[in-house]
Amino acid sequence: MAAVLAIHAHPDDIETLGAGTLALLAKLGHRITLVTATAGEGGATETTPEETARVRQGEAATAAAIIGADYRCAGFGDLAVFNDDASRRRMTELIREARPDIVITSSPVDYHPDHEAVSLLARDACFASSVPNYRTGAAAALPAIPHLYFMDAIGGRSREGERIRPDFGVDITNFLETKRRMLMAHRSQVAWVARQHGIDDYAGSMVSWGERRGRDFGVAYAEGFRQYRHPPYPATPALQDLLGEAVRQLANWTDTDQAR
Ligand SMILES: [Zn+2]
Repeated sequence: MAAVLAIHAHPDDIETLGAGTLALLAKLGHRITLVTATAGEGGATETTPEETARVRQGEAATAAAIIGADYRCAGFGDLAVFNDDASRRRMTELIREARPDIVITSSPVDYHPDHEAVSLLARDACFASSVPNYRTGAAAALPAIPHLYFMDAIGGRSREGERIRPDFGVDITNFLETKRRMLMAHRSQVAWVARQHGIDDYAGSMVSWGERRGRDFGVAYAEGFRQYRHPPYPATPALQDLLGEAVRQLANWTDTDQAR
């Protein structure tokens, strides 16, 4: 069985972009760990950052438990994730503790600075985690760089609205309900997302995005992924091999398609 580590910026990002695939991996018996960089303490108006952080970490742990996954918060601050020396060491220690075969992180191009910073941090920490003399804490260095994947950006687009082409999709139709339950564990986010993002239907927007990716891959609901396969990172399709028949290739795609 493989160890899979999902790393994203805020509570509910993993649930929005990768929970269907992670639910399938969990059902197949793989060991799943979910990490958020921050506790989402900045995204509220009715509660203090400390109270919000406590609530959001509880919600993220509840969501993870739905698929039997562990949850860890890396302890960075909202809008304060940077790819610097201390942060890279902290992320590397987390990766060494989880000892993953596969890391799935945020898109390097996305709407939010934390999403982009987490992607760089995770990418560079995957490399650093295999360097024995790079000291981070008690956890031992990994024997090799883990396989690295990126989730879709929010809405599948860069800040400039450019569509980001996934390498492959995962048919999550049978896990949409699990994904919805995991997302809705983030109960404190519903009012915030309505206020900040103008999204009144929290679960509905996730389902709509799954349908949109489903059309790209010729299934009812899908999630898209890219593999970072540049040397010295491993290029073999470790995640695709675990997912088997659920992996789909793009069925409908044009770079000029602006349809949501
Ligand atoms: Zn986020």
